[in-house]
Amino acid sequence: MTQAAAAITVRTTCPYCGVGCGILATPQADGSVAIAGDPGHPANFGRLCSKGTALGETLSLTDRLLRPRIEGREAHWDEALDLVAGRFREAIQAFGPDSVAIYGSGQLLTEDYYVANKLMKGFVGSANIDTNSRLCMASSVAGHKRAFGSDTVPGNYEDLEAADLVVLVGSNLAWCHPVLHQRLLAAKARRPQMRIMLIDPRRTVSAELTDLHLPIQPDGDIALFVGLLRHLAAAGAATDFASKYVVGTDGAVAAAAAWDIARVTEATGLAPTDLETFYRWFAETERVVTVYSQGVNQSATGTDKVNAIINCHLLTGRIGRPGMGPFSVTGQPNAMGGREVGGLANMLAAHMDFSPETIERVGRFWKAERMAETPGLGAVDLFAAMAAGRIKAVWIMGTNPVVSMPDADAVRDALKACPFVVVSDMTERTDSAQLAHVLLPAAPWGEKDGTVTNSERRISRQRAFLAPAGQAKPDWWIITQVARRMGFGAAFPYETPAEIFAEHARLSGFENEGRRDFDISGLLGENYDLLEPVQWPVREKSVERLFADGGFYTPDGKARMLPIEPPPVLNPAPGRMVLNTGRVRDHWHTMTRTGKTARLSAHYAEPFVEIHPEDARRLNIRKASLVRLARGDSETVVRALLSERQRKGSVFAPMHWTGQFASKGRIDALVAAKVDPVSAQPALKMSEVTVEPWRTS
Ligand code: SF4
Repeated sequence: MTQAAAAITVRTTCPYCGVGCGILATPQADGSVAIAGDPGHPANFGRLCSKGTALGETLSLTDRLLRPRIEGREAHWDEALDLVAGRFREAIQAFGPDSVAIYGSGQLLTEDYYVANKLMKGFVGSANIDTNSRLCMASSVAGHKRAFGSDTVPGNYEDLEAADLVVLVGSNLAWCHPVLHQRLLAAKARRPQMRIMLIDPRRTVSAELTDLHLPIQPDGDIALFVGLLRHLAAAGAATDFASKYVVGTDGAVAAAAAWDIARVTEATGLAPTDLETFYRWFAETERVVTVYSQGVNQSATGTDKVNAIINCHLLTGRIGRPGMGPFSVTGQPNAMGGREVGGLANMLAAHMDFSPETIERVGRFWKAERMAETPGLGAVDLFAAMAAGRIKAVWIMGTNPVVSMPDADAVRDALKACPFVVVSDMTERTDSAQLAHVLLPAAPWGEKDGTVTNSERRISRQRAFLAPAGQAKPDWWIITQVARRMGFGAAFPYETPAEIFAEHARLSGFENEGRRDFDISGLLGENYDLLEPVQWPVREKSVERLFADGGFYTPDGKARMLPIEPPPVLNPAPGRMVLNTGRVRDHWHTMTRTGKTARLSAHYAEPFVEIHPEDARRLNIRKASLVRLARGDSETVVRALLSERQRKGSVFAPMHWTGQFASKGRIDALVAAKVDPVSAQPALKMSEVTVEPWRTS
């Protein structure tokens, strides 16, 4: 463990999920760090979950990358940075700007993201910069834009506590956003009249203490919410809000006309009485919050799912007021911060999309040498382009696509074939780092400074409380150094993250005049070191509640309801089952941090597949036996966990274990690279696989 700079308590933010809990970190004289929840942070008010509580156990130097490496040998920073800049420059000169790419992470801080985005979109001249956030919430981004004219989450965490009905859709809040779940259960204990319900094919832990669980067929969500819209319209639940502030109401309701209870029953597999209960509760309850997460987003129809949900809130005017609203909770700690700076390939900067006007404005602000003119490649397309030989140099920052991307074996092969692969990370042990030509030691949580934004648009500081280990450097510093070596020094003068944040805040207000959603220009002049958690937009220091009286970010200020058509019912081919992937409570992504503590590994010690006992009997699979899952040439072998929580015909497997830990392969190698056509988000929860007992011969 690195030496503590001083034994004082530092206020920082948890590096795991999108709840964004405040943490008090106190380095101790023996080199350990005491971790506690920050009672003053409005996301958690002192609470922490199992992962947050164990953060102090994850700070060891085991597996840390402490010096730059080139082709496996240790190198000086100057040599490594010169090589990265030179190879990127050569690829751009020989093959054009779109021959290089950056693949980032929702773990990056906003300042890191900003500098990487500026380098690619303003100076390289390509928008081939995407992120693992594409796997997390791109469908919510697209759905928000279609409905609100901008990617704006309208609610606050307090809305969940103030609601009389909380509908969790495709969200295992208890495991994936545990502190928000704790807040919800505490509110229900205070207000027993509050109802909580869960819509999920699996009976997850989040179903406990709920008033209703709807075990919906995979991808049945659109039919469910289109049927709800029909019911609401027929019940006279349309409001003045819809007539004043929403357009498209008639078309959306007309498209739902055929979706009566019988048809919804067929498409969702739900009991008509349960459907009627849900529809009645939603219609008769004014304060409704619908919380949705990866079960909605990670689908080939994810954007339509988001809009089907939002339609119901717009028709009833349940948005923008306390205890109401559609609420997308993000998976990663800074997925929202990445969205703010345009970290997705289809966004520009400061929440702006690509248009001639925005390209000109941002280019002028940056004094850009070569602005990207069009959106770049989303994650799946980016690795496909690499496989096709079109990407000559790639830089992967703080993520492990060889494990987490769909069709992960193809991603591994694409990286193997790519002429120049750079990985900046805290460790050299990820499957992706093993394929890098150059490894750059990035400073992890605890050793670097910056900001993150949580699911309720709240910006918080991450603060260093340890000295950097070895030669580790913050990501923003590494990117800045490469930009300077590529010849763009005048535009990359940064010496501190505070300077980067100030530039980002200035850009958010640049020629804005209150017309854009994302604006934090009101924070200019604030002391960065002392910055308190704050929700955007922040214009002239006032924080606004959004959409209570319309004011959407469309040209006419009105929201859009969309006609949504449910997809056909998913029927796997004979002999196949539907594979649903996700998280367990105590591990995070590919376990680079959580894998370091025995306490967290004790919850689930090894990879597994959850299967319904009747399916197991049919397939001759015994409890705790080894099971082979396969799709095409990709396979994995994991242990069988028999559980009636699992829906028949489907299996669930967690995505965390890597080639290093799993007995054979990685689960996302079995996931088809199918994406939502609007958001380009992969459908990580609905792949068809074969499931059979594992035989050694
Ligand atoms: Fe960290 Fe999320 Fe747990 Fe809060 S709920 S402590 S942000 S992992």
